[in-house]
Amino acid sequence: AAFENAPALWQEAYPWPRTDAHKYQRGHVLVVGGATMTGAARLSAMAAARVGAGLVTVAAPASSWAVYASALTSVMVQPVNDAGMLKDILADERKNAVVIGPGAGVSDATRAYVLAVLASGRATVLDADAISVFGPAPQSLFDAIAGPCVLTPHEGEFGRVFGAGDGGKLERARAAARQSGAVLVLKGPDTVIAASDGRAIINTNAPPDLATGGTGDVLAGLIAGLMAQGMDAFRAAAAAVWLHGEAAALFGPGLVSEDLPGLLPRALRRLK
Ligand code: AMP
Ligand code: MG
Repeated sequence: AAFENAPALWQEAYPWPRTDAHKYQRGHVLVVGGATMTGAARLSAMAAARVGAGLVTVAAPASSWAVYASALTSVMVQPVNDAGMLKDILADERKNAVVIGPGAGVSDATRAYVLAVLASGRATVLDADAISVFGPAPQSLFDAIAGPCVLTPHEGEFGRVFGAGDGGKLERARAAARQSGAVLVLKGPDTVIAASDGRAIINTNAPPDLATGGTGDVLAGLIAGLMAQGMDAFRAAAAAVWLHGEAAALFGPGLVSEDLPGLLPRALRRLK
């Protein structure tokens, strides 16, 4: 069986800021951005900031640094040109959660970045190209997953890595979580959030207006923003999926992905 996603399942773990909080106690999300599809990582970054991460940094190729920096104000931007530079950025232990994949590109560089991030043990969200780039049944990826990790494939990305699989969506997500050791967020109208120990939540709080470019990038940032604030991977994923759908429902028809981060404050207030 699986639970229907509801705030009651994870509300107690939600990281409301303490009275004496300062920004360094609210986590620092690093988003690894790509060279050309720059909007994707920017959406993840704004979502992480809106959901309460104290600091957010985008690491982006030096060639596109100006694009990121000019379009992001509350988010910092650091240049990264190879895995060595990424390791140096991750030497800052306060950067405690990472998003990689949105706009990353399917390339050797993306694969090297993912492995560098996983080797750091940081709480990690692997989305989009960071999933696809490994191809079918990637034991090298599964072996590298040691710390808290959330995979957020849509059905196409899921199929590329885990194959068609047997059974319904719930069974397929559970099997993939067991195989990979990560929390699986198998997206769609009925997103399944599955942990490798068999726990599972199904989310139907999501309007079809979400079927538009960039909404998945927002979700990846929300999950990382919650993990950076101390939520465990499974609850962060469930909370983020619910908040994402709630924000979309508050907006209604005509939604585009960049509307979502700005709707987060209203979605969060629904929890209080
Ligand atoms: P992506 O495919 O990575 O852009 O992610 C799309 C996001 O929108 C995911 O969070 C999906 O769960 C959500 N989504 C896509 N289509 C629908 C739909 N028809 N109804 C509700 N949510 C959807
Ligand atoms: Mg996507």
